[in-house]
Amino acid sequence: MASPAAVPLATSVYDPDCRRCPRLAHFLDEVKHDHPGYFCKPVPPFGAAHPRLIVVGLAPGLHGANATGRPFTGDWCGPLLYSSLHRFGFASASESRSVDDGLKLIDCRITNAVKCLPPQNKPERSEVRNCTSFLGAELAEASQLRVLLTLGTVAHQAVLDALRLRLRDYPFAHHRRHQLTDALVLFNSYHVSRYNTQTGRLTEAMFHSVLADIRKLLDS
Ligand code: SF4
Repeated sequence: MASPAAVPLATSVYDPDCRRCPRLAHFLDEVKHDHPGYFCKPVPPFGAAHPRLIVVGLAPGLHGANATGRPFTGDWCGPLLYSSLHRFGFASASESRSVDDGLKLIDCRITNAVKCLPPQNKPERSEVRNCTSFLGAELAEASQLRVLLTLGTVAHQAVLDALRLRLRDYPFAHHRRHQLTDALVLFNSYHVSRYNTQTGRLTEAMFHSVLADIRKLLDS
């Protein structure tokens, strides 16, 4: 299988052998036993080496990123995210099928707040904190970064923790724009999850509206 990482990543950004969260590490061992063909490791960020946009999701899905090794690939959440990124010029194609499908992200990278599959899609707070050091290192080395897009409250809190900012100063709300510094803006969106999209909490139009604003900002 081809390497899932599109760019070389420093060990401070991504450690494929990390077992810092014992509950998650043991869960991955069990899932690997049941699904030997699945990736079942911390899922690395995917995308451009020096992006201006970083999209931060929650964690790999069992039969999605955890199976394929690429964020938001193989499960319910991916099609809306990748088709939207493509629509606004951040992806070379509208679909992400596998790590070796040739897809390129343009000026954009996708990462997760928690790199390992959590049971029930619910990481514990301590696990999010453990993984924040990787996210912090990734943001610190993103020298061209101008926009962060957090999908959901867990990703939002993780980004704030990574940047040592307080939630009460930057509360989460869908389509909210936070000016973090002169050069860095944080956008919020509801997560592109099955629950949110099936209940209508997040529609395609709502998500496109956020990405349209990001495109406009980066093009200005
Ligand atoms: S979730 Fe992050 S910190 Fe925890 S074991 Fe996985 S890679 Fe390591």
